[in-house]
Amino acid sequence: MAETKELTGKVFDTQGFSVHDGPGIRITVFFKGCPLKCLWCHSPESQRFQTEINWLKHKCVDCGRCLQACPTGARTREAFVDDKGEPKFTYHIDPEKCVECGACIKACLPRALYWCGTDKTVEEIMDRVRKDKPFFEKSGGGLTVSGGECLAQADFMAELLKAAKSEDIDTCVDTCGFVPWESIEKVLPYTDRFLYDIKHMDSEKHAELTGVPNELILENAVKIAEAGGKFHIRIPVIPTCNADMENIVATKDFLLPIADAVELVQILPYHALGKVKWERLNWKGKTVEPEPPSDEEIDEIVKVFVDAGFNTIVH
Ligand code: SF4
Ligand code: SF4
Repeated sequence: MAETKELTGKVFDTQGFSVHDGPGIRITVFFKGCPLKCLWCHSPESQRFQTEINWLKHKCVDCGRCLQACPTGARTREAFVDDKGEPKFTYHIDPEKCVECGACIKACLPRALYWCGTDKTVEEIMDRVRKDKPFFEKSGGGLTVSGGECLAQADFMAELLKAAKSEDIDTCVDTCGFVPWESIEKVLPYTDRFLYDIKHMDSEKHAELTGVPNELILENAVKIAEAGGKFHIRIPVIPTCNADMENIVATKDFLLPIADAVELVQILPYHALGKVKWERLNWKGKTVEPEPPSDEEIDEIVKVFVDAGFNTIVH
């Protein structure tokens, strides 16, 4: 008889004591793979769906041990001269030649290489989640599933959230909303609230900034509200991208008809920490690097939502 393969989700990080991903003290589990490519992405390692080997440039001592350990020649070193005429180096892995043996990771003494993306079962994740239950009970916290885009793995998410609810654990789903409605329907019965990103109200501009249009995201938000779901709406404020008042007011106007479903509006001012991550991971994707918004700009944006009656905080 054929063996049934247990359902797994691809996790790239787990953070306990998280206080920004829903109410109370939470554990946030980050799942790999995202359909969006936001220009300000702070987790570029989450974008690809497959497990990969990441190289932390700041930890690498250029010893070459990974090259010697690689049995297929997939790992290579490239020397180059930068814009200032300084000699530099970088390392690559050729996916065509890599057999995912992990020898390069084992050979790397400063731990500059690591697997990003581990397949985990519901029970493996729940074992970790249960350890934090005393903190959830005291603070009103619980489990948050995030990403990447966790709902790209909707079947797994439904099973995980169902398991959490069966143990009375509060659940949040952090989503960009760019998923088929069927994926949301699968998790709705087990989700206490959606942490729902709204990045731009103009679809063309949204596509320019994230790689996808916004119609599906906005339609799904309305459908969640109609189905009785609750939201923490998250608005990243990225100067030069979406921080203009016209877009902010349009976002507020979109939310007004579904206001009963909105428990909270979270304003997330852009900060430059993503840049550190891009450098550490040697990330070569398309990015923007604006100056962070001023306190006055953020105050004005908050006022728009507060005046409209929304419970609003700055993250
Ligand atoms: S995982 Fe194995 S094959 Fe792939 S780059 Fe590392 S040593 Fe080479
Ligand atoms: S083994 Fe590690 S430290 Fe040495 S060159 Fe390779 S990645 Fe860098």
